Amino acid sequence: MITVPDQFYSTLQEKYRTALAGGHLTFDGESASHELIDYKINDKTFQCHLTELKSLEHRPEKGTVAKNPFAKPEPELTILSEFGEKNEFKLVLNKFPVVPAHFMLVTNTFISQNTPLSPSELSAIYALLMGLKSDGEGKNWFAFYNCGPESGASQPHKHVQFMPLPTNYQPFTAKIVETSESFIPDQTHEPLQDADIPFAHFVAKLPSEKEKLTEEYLAMTFVSLLQRTLSVLKAHDANHISYNFCATTNYMMLVPRSSAKFDETLGINSCGVLGLILSKNDGTTALIKSTGFMSILEAVGFPKTAGEASNEYMY
Ligand code: AMP
Ligand code: AMP
Repeated sequence: MITVPDQFYSTLQEKYRTALAGGHLTFDGESASHELIDYKINDKTFQCHLTELKSLEHRPEKGTVAKNPFAKPEPELTILSEFGEKNEFKLVLNKFPVVPAHFMLVTNTFISQNTPLSPSELSAIYALLMGLKSDGEGKNWFAFYNCGPESGASQPHKHVQFMPLPTNYQPFTAKIVETSESFIPDQTHEPLQDADIPFAHFVAKLPSEKEKLTEEYLAMTFVSLLQRTLSVLKAHDANHISYNFCATTNYMMLVPRSSAKFDETLGINSCGVLGLILSKNDGTTALIKSTGFMSILEAVGFPKTAGEASNEYMY
Protein backbone atom coordinates (compact mmCIF):
# COMPACT_ATOMS: atom_id res chain seq x y z
CA MET A 1 0.00 0.00 0.00
CA ILE A 2 1.28 3.45 -0.92
CA THR A 3 1.68 5.71 2.07
CA VAL A 4 1.00 9.41 2.02
CA PRO A 5 3.77 11.43 3.71
CA ASP A 6 3.12 12.59 7.29
CA GLN A 7 1.74 16.11 7.42
CA PHE A 8 0.51 15.80 3.82
CA TYR A 9 -2.57 17.87 4.59
CA SER A 10 -0.64 20.72 6.18
CA THR A 11 1.89 20.63 3.31
CA LEU A 12 -1.02 20.89 0.86
CA GLN A 13 -2.57 23.85 2.71
CA GLU A 14 0.77 25.62 3.05
CA LYS A 15 1.61 25.14 -0.63
CA TYR A 16 -1.84 26.46 -1.57
CA ARG A 17 -1.52 29.56 0.63
CA THR A 18 1.96 30.36 -0.68
CA ALA A 19 0.95 29.85 -4.35
CA LEU A 20 -2.10 32.07 -3.87
CA ALA A 21 -0.15 34.81 -2.10
CA GLY A 22 2.55 34.69 -4.80
CA GLY A 23 -0.01 35.00 -7.62
CA HIS A 24 0.81 31.55 -9.04
CA LEU A 25 -2.81 30.45 -8.94
CA THR A 26 -6.11 32.22 -9.37
CA PHE A 27 -8.81 31.36 -6.88
CA ASP A 28 -11.97 31.61 -8.95
CA GLY A 29 -14.35 31.04 -6.06
CA GLU A 30 -14.14 34.52 -4.50
CA SER A 31 -17.26 35.90 -6.17
CA ALA A 32 -19.18 32.59 -6.11
CA SER A 33 -22.71 32.32 -4.81
CA HIS A 34 -24.12 28.95 -3.80
CA GLU A 35 -27.61 27.52 -3.66
CA LEU A 36 -28.95 24.10 -2.66
CA ILE A 37 -31.80 23.01 -4.92
CA ASP A 38 -34.12 20.09 -4.15
CA TYR A 39 -35.32 17.83 -6.95
CA LYS A 40 -38.16 15.43 -6.21
CA ILE A 41 -38.64 12.10 -7.97
CA ASN A 42 -41.46 9.87 -6.69
CA ASP A 43 -41.13 10.10 -2.90
CA LYS A 44 -37.40 10.88 -2.90
CA THR A 45 -35.66 14.24 -2.74
CA PHE A 46 -32.27 14.67 -4.41
CA GLN A 47 -30.07 17.69 -3.86
CA CYS A 48 -28.04 19.76 -6.27
CA HIS A 49 -25.40 22.27 -5.15
CA LEU A 50 -25.47 25.11 -7.66
CA THR A 51 -22.50 27.47 -7.81
CA GLU A 52 -22.84 30.67 -9.79
CA LEU A 53 -19.55 32.16 -10.75
CA LYS A 54 -18.96 34.98 -13.18
CA SER A 55 -15.17 34.97 -13.31
CA LEU A 56 -14.12 31.63 -14.73
CA GLU A 57 -12.63 33.19 -17.86
CA HIS A 58 -9.10 32.45 -16.60
CA ARG A 59 -9.53 28.74 -17.03
CA PRO A 60 -8.31 27.48 -20.43
CA GLU A 61 -11.20 25.78 -22.31
CA LYS A 62 -9.15 23.04 -23.99
CA GLY A 63 -5.53 21.96 -23.61
CA THR A 64 -3.58 20.14 -26.33
CA VAL A 65 -0.77 17.60 -26.29
CA ALA A 66 1.58 20.24 -27.76
CA LYS A 67 0.52 22.91 -25.25
CA ASN A 68 0.23 20.68 -22.21
CA PRO A 69 0.41 22.35 -18.75
CA PHE A 70 1.04 18.98 -17.07
CA ALA A 71 4.19 18.11 -19.07
CA LYS A 72 6.15 20.42 -16.77
CA PRO A 73 3.87 21.64 -13.99
CA GLU A 74 4.91 24.91 -12.38
CA PRO A 75 7.18 24.27 -9.34
CA GLU A 76 5.11 26.74 -7.30
CA LEU A 77 2.07 24.50 -7.88
CA THR A 78 3.84 21.19 -7.34
CA ILE A 79 3.02 19.71 -3.93
CA LEU A 80 5.07 16.52 -4.44
CA SER A 81 7.19 15.92 -7.54
CA GLU A 82 7.32 12.16 -6.90
CA PHE A 83 4.46 10.07 -5.59
CA GLY A 84 3.36 6.43 -5.96
CA GLU A 85 5.03 3.04 -5.59
CA LYS A 86 7.33 3.76 -8.55
CA ASN A 87 7.28 7.55 -8.18
CA GLU A 88 5.25 7.61 -11.38
CA PHE A 89 3.03 10.55 -10.34
CA LYS A 90 3.16 14.17 -9.27
CA LEU A 91 0.71 16.01 -7.06
CA VAL A 92 -0.09 19.44 -8.48
CA LEU A 93 -2.40 22.24 -7.35
CA ASN A 94 -5.14 23.26 -9.77
CA LYS A 95 -4.14 26.67 -11.14
CA PHE A 96 -7.76 27.86 -11.43
CA PRO A 97 -9.59 26.36 -8.44
CA VAL A 98 -13.20 27.09 -7.55
CA VAL A 99 -12.61 25.42 -4.17
CA PRO A 100 -9.37 26.12 -2.22
CA ALA A 101 -6.61 23.48 -2.33
CA HIS A 102 -8.19 21.61 -5.30
CA PHE A 103 -5.29 19.41 -6.47
CA MET A 104 -4.50 16.71 -9.01
CA LEU A 105 -2.61 13.44 -9.32
CA VAL A 106 -0.77 13.78 -12.64
CA THR A 107 1.26 11.08 -14.41
CA ASN A 108 4.97 11.95 -14.81
CA THR A 109 5.06 10.77 -18.41
CA PHE A 110 2.33 11.55 -20.91
CA ILE A 111 -0.57 9.08 -20.69
CA SER A 112 -3.84 9.84 -22.47
CA GLN A 113 -6.86 10.99 -20.47
CA ASN A 114 -8.83 8.50 -22.62
CA THR A 115 -7.23 5.49 -20.88
CA PRO A 116 -8.89 3.64 -17.98
CA LEU A 117 -7.47 3.97 -14.46
CA SER A 118 -4.69 1.44 -13.81
CA PRO A 119 -4.32 -0.60 -10.59
CA SER A 120 -1.43 1.63 -9.44
CA GLU A 121 -3.47 4.78 -10.16
CA LEU A 122 -6.39 3.39 -8.13
CA SER A 123 -4.02 2.53 -5.25
CA ALA A 124 -2.59 6.05 -5.32
CA ILE A 125 -6.10 7.58 -5.37
CA TYR A 126 -7.19 5.55 -2.34
CA ALA A 127 -3.96 6.21 -0.43
CA LEU A 128 -4.66 9.94 -0.88
CA LEU A 129 -8.35 9.66 0.04
CA MET A 130 -7.41 7.71 3.21
CA GLY A 131 -4.75 10.27 4.10
CA LEU A 132 -7.17 13.16 3.58
CA LYS A 133 -9.82 11.42 5.66
CA SER A 134 -7.58 10.97 8.67
CA ASP A 135 -5.87 14.34 8.37
CA GLY A 136 -8.16 16.65 6.39
CA GLU A 137 -9.85 18.73 9.12
CA GLY A 138 -12.99 16.59 8.85
CA LYS A 139 -13.61 17.70 5.27
CA ASN A 140 -15.31 15.28 2.94
CA TRP A 141 -12.79 14.85 0.11
CA PHE A 142 -13.59 13.05 -3.12
CA ALA A 143 -11.57 12.07 -6.18
CA PHE A 144 -12.75 12.35 -9.76
CA TYR A 145 -11.57 11.39 -13.21
CA ASN A 146 -13.15 12.68 -16.41
CA CYS A 147 -12.34 10.01 -19.01
CA GLY A 148 -12.93 10.37 -22.74
CA PRO A 149 -14.00 13.09 -25.18
CA GLU A 150 -17.56 13.54 -23.81
CA SER A 151 -16.65 13.40 -20.10
CA GLY A 152 -16.05 17.12 -19.57
CA ALA A 153 -12.23 16.89 -19.42
CA SER A 154 -10.25 19.81 -20.83
CA GLN A 155 -6.67 18.50 -20.61
CA PRO A 156 -5.41 15.46 -22.57
CA HIS A 157 -2.63 14.47 -20.09
CA LYS A 158 -3.87 11.98 -17.47
CA HIS A 159 -5.01 13.70 -14.27
CA VAL A 160 -7.22 12.62 -11.38
CA GLN A 161 -8.60 15.47 -9.28
CA PHE A 162 -9.26 15.89 -5.54
CA MET A 163 -11.71 18.34 -4.01
CA PRO A 164 -13.64 18.59 -0.73
CA LEU A 165 -17.44 18.38 -0.99
CA PRO A 166 -19.30 21.48 0.21
CA THR A 167 -20.03 21.41 3.95
CA ASN A 168 -23.36 19.72 4.78
CA TYR A 169 -23.84 18.57 1.17
CA GLN A 170 -24.78 14.94 0.56
CA PRO A 171 -24.67 13.78 -3.05
CA PHE A 172 -27.19 11.06 -4.03
CA THR A 173 -24.43 8.44 -3.88
CA ALA A 174 -24.13 8.81 -0.10
CA LYS A 175 -27.77 7.72 0.23
CA ILE A 176 -27.38 4.81 -2.20
CA VAL A 177 -24.58 3.21 -0.17
CA GLU A 178 -26.07 3.98 3.25
CA THR A 179 -27.78 0.65 3.83
CA SER A 180 -26.11 -1.71 1.36
CA GLU A 181 -23.46 -4.39 1.69
CA SER A 182 -19.99 -3.81 0.33
CA PHE A 183 -19.48 -4.79 -3.31
CA ILE A 184 -18.12 -8.18 -4.32
CA PRO A 185 -16.44 -7.78 -7.71
CA ASP A 186 -17.41 -11.00 -9.45
CA GLN A 187 -19.71 -11.91 -12.34
CA THR A 188 -22.66 -12.67 -10.03
CA HIS A 189 -22.97 -9.36 -8.16
CA GLU A 190 -24.50 -6.23 -9.67
CA PRO A 191 -23.37 -2.72 -8.73
CA LEU A 192 -25.96 -0.46 -7.06
CA GLN A 193 -28.18 1.79 -9.17
CA ASP A 194 -31.09 3.84 -7.77
CA ALA A 195 -34.14 3.03 -9.94
CA ASP A 196 -35.58 6.50 -9.30
CA ILE A 197 -32.60 8.22 -10.93
CA PRO A 198 -33.13 8.56 -14.70
CA PHE A 199 -29.51 8.17 -15.88
CA ALA A 200 -27.26 5.08 -15.83
CA HIS A 201 -24.86 5.09 -12.85
CA PHE A 202 -22.94 2.17 -11.38
CA VAL A 203 -22.00 2.35 -7.72
CA ALA A 204 -19.88 0.00 -5.63
CA LYS A 205 -19.96 0.38 -1.86
CA LEU A 206 -16.50 -0.27 -0.44
CA PRO A 207 -15.64 -2.22 2.71
CA SER A 208 -15.03 -0.01 5.73
CA GLU A 209 -11.94 -2.00 6.75
CA LYS A 210 -8.95 -0.20 5.24
CA GLU A 211 -6.94 -3.42 4.84
CA LYS A 212 -9.57 -4.80 2.45
CA LEU A 213 -8.98 -1.99 -0.04
CA THR A 214 -6.11 -3.81 -1.72
CA GLU A 215 -4.89 -2.88 -5.19
CA GLU A 216 -6.48 -6.09 -6.51
CA TYR A 217 -9.87 -5.36 -4.92
CA LEU A 218 -9.87 -1.76 -6.20
CA ALA A 219 -8.87 -2.85 -9.71
CA MET A 220 -11.49 -5.63 -9.87
CA THR A 221 -14.17 -3.26 -8.60
CA PHE A 222 -13.22 -0.61 -11.17
CA VAL A 223 -13.27 -3.22 -13.96
CA SER A 224 -16.74 -4.45 -12.89
CA LEU A 225 -18.11 -0.90 -13.06
CA LEU A 226 -16.29 -0.27 -16.35
CA GLN A 227 -17.84 -3.44 -17.86
CA ARG A 228 -21.34 -2.09 -17.18
CA THR A 229 -20.33 1.32 -18.51
CA LEU A 230 -18.98 -0.17 -21.74
CA SER A 231 -22.16 -2.24 -22.15
CA VAL A 232 -24.28 0.93 -21.97
CA LEU A 233 -22.05 2.71 -24.52
CA LYS A 234 -22.23 -0.33 -26.82
CA ALA A 235 -26.03 -0.63 -26.48
CA HIS A 236 -26.34 2.98 -27.66
CA ASP A 237 -23.78 2.62 -30.48
CA ALA A 238 -21.55 5.30 -28.98
CA ASN A 239 -18.49 5.96 -31.14
CA HIS A 240 -16.39 7.02 -28.12
CA ILE A 241 -15.68 5.78 -24.60
CA SER A 242 -16.57 8.56 -22.17
CA TYR A 243 -17.45 8.30 -18.50
CA ASN A 244 -17.06 10.00 -15.15
CA PHE A 245 -15.41 8.34 -12.16
CA CYS A 246 -16.19 9.60 -8.64
CA ALA A 247 -14.69 8.07 -5.52
CA THR A 248 -14.66 8.50 -1.77
CA THR A 249 -13.42 6.08 0.89
CA ASN A 250 -17.02 4.75 0.99
CA TYR A 251 -17.75 4.14 -2.69
CA MET A 252 -16.67 4.20 -6.31
CA MET A 253 -19.06 5.24 -9.10
CA LEU A 254 -18.89 5.25 -12.89
CA VAL A 255 -21.37 7.18 -15.08
CA PRO A 256 -21.32 6.66 -18.87
CA ARG A 257 -21.58 9.95 -20.79
CA SER A 258 -23.20 10.77 -24.11
CA SER A 259 -22.31 14.45 -24.21
CA ALA A 260 -19.87 16.80 -22.45
CA LYS A 261 -22.30 19.74 -22.54
CA PHE A 262 -25.99 20.28 -21.91
CA ASP A 263 -27.69 22.53 -24.45
CA GLU A 264 -24.23 23.14 -25.96
CA THR A 265 -23.50 25.67 -23.20
CA LEU A 266 -23.34 24.02 -19.79
CA GLY A 267 -20.25 21.85 -19.21
CA ILE A 268 -20.82 18.86 -16.95
CA ASN A 269 -17.97 16.75 -15.62
CA SER A 270 -17.64 14.30 -12.68
CA CYS A 271 -18.47 17.12 -10.21
CA GLY A 272 -21.66 17.68 -12.18
CA VAL A 273 -22.78 14.05 -11.91
CA LEU A 274 -22.41 14.38 -8.13
CA GLY A 275 -24.84 17.33 -8.32
CA LEU A 276 -22.16 20.05 -8.13
CA ILE A 277 -23.21 22.24 -11.02
CA LEU A 278 -21.29 25.32 -12.05
CA SER A 279 -23.04 28.18 -13.83
CA LYS A 280 -21.21 31.12 -15.37
CA ASN A 281 -24.13 33.48 -15.96
CA ASP A 282 -27.74 34.25 -15.01
CA GLY A 283 -29.12 32.76 -18.24
CA THR A 284 -27.50 29.39 -17.50
CA THR A 285 -28.69 29.51 -13.88
CA ALA A 286 -32.25 30.04 -15.09
CA LEU A 287 -31.87 27.15 -17.56
CA ILE A 288 -30.56 24.82 -14.80
CA LYS A 289 -33.49 25.73 -12.54
CA SER A 290 -36.17 25.35 -15.20
CA THR A 291 -34.76 22.05 -16.51
CA GLY A 292 -33.89 20.45 -13.17
CA PHE A 293 -30.48 18.91 -12.55
CA MET A 294 -31.61 15.28 -12.85
CA SER A 295 -33.02 16.00 -16.32
CA ILE A 296 -29.75 17.69 -17.26
CA LEU A 297 -27.79 14.63 -16.10
CA GLU A 298 -30.20 12.38 -18.01
CA ALA A 299 -29.53 14.38 -21.18
CA VAL A 300 -25.72 14.19 -20.88
CA GLY A 301 -25.73 10.53 -19.75
CA PHE A 302 -27.67 7.46 -20.88
CA PRO A 303 -31.02 6.05 -19.68
CA LYS A 304 -30.91 4.07 -16.43
CA THR A 305 -30.48 0.31 -16.57
CA ALA A 306 -31.59 -0.47 -13.00
CA GLY A 307 -33.38 -3.82 -12.85
CA GLU A 308 -32.28 -4.89 -16.33
CA ALA A 309 -30.80 -8.37 -16.44
CA SER A 310 -27.46 -8.97 -18.18
CA ASN A 311 -27.59 -10.61 -21.61
CA GLU A 312 -25.10 -12.08 -24.06
CA TYR A 313 -24.60 -8.74 -25.85
CA MET A 314 -23.08 -7.19 -22.76
CA TYR A 315 -19.42 -7.18 -21.81
P1 AMP B 1 -10.33 18.99 -16.59
O1 AMP B 1 -10.96 20.24 -17.15
O2 AMP B 1 -11.28 18.15 -15.82
O3 AMP B 1 -9.55 18.23 -17.63
O4 AMP B 1 -9.28 19.46 -15.51
C1 AMP B 1 -8.12 20.18 -15.85
C2 AMP B 1 -7.89 21.21 -14.79
O5 AMP B 1 -6.55 21.69 -14.95
C3 AMP B 1 -8.80 22.40 -14.85
O6 AMP B 1 -9.63 22.40 -13.70
C4 AMP B 1 -7.88 23.61 -14.90
O7 AMP B 1 -8.25 24.59 -13.96
C5 AMP B 1 -6.53 23.02 -14.52
N1 AMP B 1 -5.38 23.68 -15.16
C6 AMP B 1 -5.32 24.24 -16.40
N2 AMP B 1 -4.07 24.73 -16.64
C7 AMP B 1 -3.32 24.45 -15.54
C8 AMP B 1 -1.95 24.68 -15.17
N3 AMP B 1 -1.11 25.33 -15.98
N4 AMP B 1 -1.55 24.23 -13.96
C9 AMP B 1 -2.39 23.60 -13.13
N5 AMP B 1 -3.69 23.38 -13.41
C10 AMP B 1 -4.15 23.77 -14.60
P1 AMP C 1 -15.86 23.74 -17.29
O1 AMP C 1 -16.38 22.92 -18.44
O2 AMP C 1 -14.40 23.69 -17.09
O3 AMP C 1 -16.43 25.11 -17.27
O4 AMP C 1 -16.43 23.03 -16.00
C1 AMP C 1 -17.79 23.07 -15.70
C2 AMP C 1 -18.11 21.95 -14.80
O5 AMP C 1 -17.12 21.86 -13.80
C3 AMP C 1 -19.37 22.13 -13.98
O6 AMP C 1 -20.54 21.91 -14.65
C4 AMP C 1 -19.16 21.15 -12.90
O7 AMP C 1 -19.56 19.89 -13.34
C5 AMP C 1 -17.65 21.17 -12.70
N1 AMP C 1 -17.09 21.78 -11.51
C6 AMP C 1 -15.79 21.96 -11.37
N2 AMP C 1 -15.54 22.50 -10.17
C7 AMP C 1 -16.69 22.68 -9.55
C8 AMP C 1 -17.09 23.20 -8.30
N3 AMP C 1 -16.22 23.64 -7.44
N4 AMP C 1 -18.38 23.27 -7.99
C9 AMP C 1 -19.25 22.85 -8.85
N5 AMP C 1 -18.95 22.33 -10.04
C10 AMP C 1 -17.69 22.24 -10.40
